[in-house]
Order: sequence, then C-alpha cells, then structure tokens
Amino acid sequence: MAENYTAFPGEIESKDYHEGAVHKVFVNAYERDPKARERCIDCHGLSCKICNFNFGEEFGDLDRGFINVHHLKPLSEVSKEYQVDPIRDLLPVCPNCHAMFHRKEPALSIEEVKAARMGIDSLT
Ligand SMILES: [Zn+2]
Ligand SMILES: [Zn+2]
Repeated sequence: MAENYTAFPGEIESKDYHEGAVHKVFVNAYERDPKARERCIDCHGLSCKICNFNFGEEFGDLDRGFINVHHLKPLSEVSKEYQVDPIRDLLPVCPNCHAMFHRKEPALSIEEVKAARMGIDSLT
C-alpha cells in the first residue's frame, strides 16, 4: 500500500508551488518516505490521531490503507544528520486534519490542532 502511495496537492503547502519542484519535494520528503510511512502506520495504526477517522471503516475496500502522515518536527530544527524516527516524528492523520496542521507556518503542534478542534466541539 505504501508503495503506490501518491501525494496529492492538499499535502503540499500552496506557497511551495511558487518555490519550485525541488523545494516542494524537500519539504515533504519525511512525509513521503514510504518506509518511514509504513513504520509509522505499523506502530500508530491507520486511524487519524486527531479525529480518529479511519478510511477502511468509512470507505471499506475502496482504500483501507489510506492515511496521510504528518512530520512533527519543525524543519527549522532538522539538521543534515537528522534521521526521521517514524514512531516519534511521524503521525497518521486524515487529509482534513493534516491540512489544519499546515494552516500556519511553522506547522501547528498536535496540541494546537487538538485544541482548535475542541474549540469547535464545545460550540456544538
Ligand atoms: Zn482527522
Ligand atoms: Zn504535514
């Protein structure tokens, strides 16, 4: 499943489009690494860690393995020697929640995204 995973525009911040394809790939390299992605999902599962959405449960066989992975470490803190830890540094999230992480630059933390979501929940 990880092998035929394709990134789609929602995973890429709009400003990256203006900075050229090379930069676009660099920014998303950790989230796109199929092996890291697989390790992350093996450990954390296929449900969104923010809203608990599970594509297999909602869409059945259409795509049971579908989920984004979000890279939690700000790229400003990533050095050349940095090796992604797929369990600590990557998080399975649905595309909606993933988009919310990237509403700000640098990306929001898990706590910030959860807090934003709770804010909406408490209004209903
Ligand atoms: Zn979600
Ligand atoms: Zn992300």
